[in-house]
Amino acid sequence: MLNFAYQEHIRTYYSDTRNLHFNLPNLTDNQHVDVCVIGAGFLGLSTALELAEKGKNVIVIEGARVGYGASGRSGGQAINGFEEGIHEYIDQVGFENARKLWDMSLEAIEIIDQRVQKYGIQCDWKKGYATLALNERRMADLVAIAKASQEVFGYQHMQLWDKPQLQQHLGSEIYVGGLYDSQSGHLHPLNYCLGLAQACLSLGVKIYEHTPALDLNPQGNMVHIHTPEATIQAKNVVLATNAFIDSPLNAKIGFKLARKILPVESFIIATEPLDQKLADSVINNGMSVCDNNILLDYYRLSADNRLLFGSDSSSNVDMVAKMRRNMFEVFPQLEHVKIDYGWGGPIDMTLNAAPHFGRVQPNIYFAHGFSGHGVALTGLAGRIISEAIEGNDERLRIFEALKVPTIFGGKWIKQMALKIGVNYYRFLDKYR
Ligand SMILES: Cc1cc2nc3c(=O)[nH]c(=O)nc-3n(C[C@H](O)[C@H](O)[C@H](O)COP(=O)(O)OP(=O)(O)OC[C@H]3O[C@@H](n4cnc5c(N)ncnc54)[C@H](O)[C@@H]3O)c2cc1C
Repeated sequence: MLNFAYQEHIRTYYSDTRNLHFNLPNLTDNQHVDVCVIGAGFLGLSTALELAEKGKNVIVIEGARVGYGASGRSGGQAINGFEEGIHEYIDQVGFENARKLWDMSLEAIEIIDQRVQKYGIQCDWKKGYATLALNERRMADLVAIAKASQEVFGYQHMQLWDKPQLQQHLGSEIYVGGLYDSQSGHLHPLNYCLGLAQACLSLGVKIYEHTPALDLNPQGNMVHIHTPEATIQAKNVVLATNAFIDSPLNAKIGFKLARKILPVESFIIATEPLDQKLADSVINNGMSVCDNNILLDYYRLSADNRLLFGSDSSSNVDMVAKMRRNMFEVFPQLEHVKIDYGWGGPIDMTLNAAPHFGRVQPNIYFAHGFSGHGVALTGLAGRIISEAIEGNDERLRIFEALKVPTIFGGKWIKQMALKIGVNYYRFLDKYR
C-alpha cells in the first residue's frame, strides 16, 4: 500500500486554521466516468473544476485527504513566469510560443483571481510579491529579468527597488535590492484547496478521500483504475499525483514520469502572531518574498500576522532550530519571538526547472515539475488539460515541446543526485 495513503493532513499552521471541515467518503462501488482525476491537490481539483464547468462527468480519487500533498502545506506564493529565464524559452520554442508561455503564466494568476471571486473562496488571497537579491551579482539577474519582461513582452507591473526603496517596505539589512511585482501574490493554500474542492462538489464532481489508485490498465478506448475496493472505467485519466508519483502506479505508467522529478524537501516555520508594530517592522505592505538564490528563503505574513518562513530542508537536523537561526539572520528584531509550527514537504523540481506537462498515451494526461511555481501554474495546467480532453490540445502542445531532462538510475541514484545537487546549489549560491 502507498505509504501516504489513508493519512490525515499533517499538522501545520494551515491545518489548524482551515475554514472548511468536510470528510469525504472512500470509494466502494465501481464507476463509469468521462474523466478520472487521481490526486486532490491544486492540479487535480483545478482540472476537475474546469471539466465540471463544461458539463463533464468527473470523479476525483485521493489516496489521503484533499490538500494532503504539497498544495495544502506550501508557502502559498503564487508567482507569475517560470523558473527558467525568458530567453531560454525563446531559444527552445521560438519567440511566438515563448510569448504564449509568458501570457499563460499571467493567466495562471488571473485564474486564482477569478476562482476566488466566482466561488467565494476564503483563502486570504493578497497581491504583491518581491524577489530579493543578496549581492550585486544577483541584483544584476533581477535587472535582466525586469528588462526582459518589460522590453520583450511589454509587462508593466514590475518595479526595480534599490536598497533604500526596498527598506521602505521590508525591515532587513541583508539585501541589496529587489524586483517588486504587483500582480503575483499569496494565499492560505489549504483553504484555497478546500475551496476548490467545495466548488467541484457544488458542480457535481464526486471526490473520494482515502482512495489510492493502485493500478491503471488501458483497455481499448478506456482506462481501468483499480482502487482497494472498486474499479473505475474512465474515457480519460489525469495523473495529478505530483512528487508522490513514486508510488505503485510507477511500475506501469508512472515510471517515465518519476524520472523527470527530483523532489527537493522544503521546510516552513510559523511564528506566533506578531503585534502590529513588530509585523510592520518585518513587512509593511502585505507582499510575499523570495530571495533569488537557487536554495532560497521565502516568506510572508499570514492573515493573523505570523511570519511564515520557508527554506530548503536537510535530514538529520533539528529543522525548527535551523530555520529559526535563518530567520534571525534576516530579521534580528524577531529574536524573542516564539515558533508555533514547523512542517515540511517535497517540492516537485525538474532538473532544468521547466514544467513537465503532457500525455503518457492519448487519454492519460499529466502535469508536474512546477518547480516552485505550482500554486499558480497548477490552475493553468488544469485548464489546458481540460481543453485537450475537450479536443483542443494547441496549448498543451506548446508545453510538450519544452525539454525536460531525464534523471537516469533508480531511487538510490536519485537520492545521491539530490544530495550532490543540494550541495552543488549551496556552492553556487555562495560563490556565484
Ligand atoms: C513546503 C512547500 C512549500 C512550497 N511553496 C510553494 C510556493 O510558495 N509557491 C509555489 O508556487 N509552489 C510551492 N510549492 C510547490 C507547490 O505546492 C506544488 O507545485 C503544487 O502544490 C503541486 O500541486 P499538485 O496538485 O500537482 O500536487 P499535490 O498537492 O502534491 O497533490 C498530489 C495529490 O496526489 C495524491 N496522490 C498521489 N498518488 C496517488 C495515488 N496513487 N492515488 C491517489 N492519490 C494519490 C497525494 O496524496 C496528493 O494529495 C511548495 C511545496 C512545498 C512542499
